[in-house]
Amino acid sequence: MSENIVWHDTAVSFDDRVRLNGHKPAVLWYTGLSGSGKSTIANAVDLKLFERGCHTYLLDGDNVRHGLNKDLGFDDASRIENIRRITEVAKLFAEAGLIVGTAFISPFIADREQARAIAGAHFIEVFVDTPLEICEQRDPKGLYKKARAGDIPHFTGISSPYEAPKNAEIHLKTAEISVEAAAEQVVAYLIQNHKLGSE
Ligand code: ADP
Repeated sequence: MSENIVWHDTAVSFDDRVRLNGHKPAVLWYTGLSGSGKSTIANAVDLKLFERGCHTYLLDGDNVRHGLNKDLGFDDASRIENIRRITEVAKLFAEAGLIVGTAFISPFIADREQARAIAGAHFIEVFVDTPLEICEQRDPKGLYKKARAGDIPHFTGISSPYEAPKNAEIHLKTAEISVEAAAEQVVAYLIQNHKLGSE
């Protein structure tokens, strides 16, 4: 980083934005196997928050790879850079006052801890906990079938590990609850932690 780049103070403060929005920002970091329900639940939460008048945005894996991260591949260094950029963007959205949802498998604890370190107090880890057998039965994009046939190398859960969170703020067991109940659980967490009031 150049030593000639100076961080500017802003005329509108973080507290000003919270007051205007009527809620605090957050980074809801959904993690789980492919097909666990990250996108589905993140969208259901987004809709609930939107209907409550919250300012929200969703960052979805595939969409980000079409734009900001289209220069990145899937080797280790690119994967780490992918998550780092997403986290920095999520942090900017949060600093702008929004409740941001990110839906990425993000299988490695170290990457998620880096995201937590960057996003700071805004970071809320949401473990979308769905057994591999159920993800494979759902197989919404037909990816497990391809992975089992050996057509997708390093597929999380099949030929690449998924490191489950040990201390996620929110733990959703989707084999036991509906999408609606999972979304309610996330919103309830935000209410309990005073994110949806400006106090
Ligand atoms: P991911 O984003 O984790 O890859 P998706 O949200 O794309 O997963 O796909 C999950 C699929 O599982 C969707 O088709 C969704 O409708 C289905 N599903 C069934 N039951 C649930 C549940 N309780 N929670 C989340 N998704 C569920």
